[in-house]
Amino acid sequence: MQTIRQVLNEAVVKLQNSSSDSPKLDAKLLLMKACSLSQVQLMVHDNEPISQEQLQAFNELLEQRLIGHPIAHLLGERDFWDLTLKVTPDTLIPRPDTEVLVEQALKLIQSNKQSKVLDLGTGSGAIILALKHTIPSISAFAVDKSPGALQVAQENARHYDLEVNFNLGSWFEPLQEHYQHYFDVIVSNPPYIEEEDEHLQRGDVRFEPLSALVSGKDGLDDIRLIASQAISYLTKDGFLLFEHGYNQGPAVHSILTDLGYRQVQTIKDYGNNDRVTLGQAPA
Ligand code: GLN
Repeated sequence: MQTIRQVLNEAVVKLQNSSSDSPKLDAKLLLMKACSLSQVQLMVHDNEPISQEQLQAFNELLEQRLIGHPIAHLLGERDFWDLTLKVTPDTLIPRPDTEVLVEQALKLIQSNKQSKVLDLGTGSGAIILALKHTIPSISAFAVDKSPGALQVAQENARHYDLEVNFNLGSWFEPLQEHYQHYFDVIVSNPPYIEEEDEHLQRGDVRFEPLSALVSGKDGLDDIRLIASQAISYLTKDGFLLFEHGYNQGPAVHSILTDLGYRQVQTIKDYGNNDRVTLGQAPA
């Protein structure tokens, strides 16, 4: 009979020879899941034998990880902002970079507590749920064209008892005429990777929906489309905010400026890369 520690150490060695870039953390997280133990419990009990059922559950998870499946899919969840969100292969896995988009949106929402906020391509619901959880008085709306993703977002909203008006469709398509010049803030983390980007062949992104990642030759097709259509849906002084690739700051800045958006700014993420560009509706 093996102890928890022995199982952990063997798994770390296997993961070191895989594509994982965090073998120790991965092994620990999967073992916590298989044994239903917290991180502290895992350490305290690490000299004790692992049960047959736990070992089997762990080996199944480990095998999946060794062929590249993302940890978030194996755990079924990912922390984002102050939430733990359900995540499935139907959604993009929420990333820490996207918290910069949440912070910028919050700055624009704070002053007007009744803000109407729209999240385009909500995926797991990460952005709109973080905003609604932080400022419950906003009227929250979200759109996604993937029924699977929308279902996950709705489950996440229910879990935290957050009221969000969810709509199935592509960008502004599902919104009726009534919503023209309605939103104070529109946020989006749209797909923005270039079609031919070689990163798509490596790591976790291989298991994420391509429709949430790729947007034409230069990665900017959806950003161009949303930026031009958003003008009809923003209030007079409303703001549009995008997440984009580290090298797309100047291009997104130009897209917004060329369309007449005011006060266009690009903000860096914690890795010091351009990550969010925002602008105020054209006059
Ligand atoms: N930031 C993600 C990545 O580089 C892409 C997310 C997106 O396309 N919206 O993997």
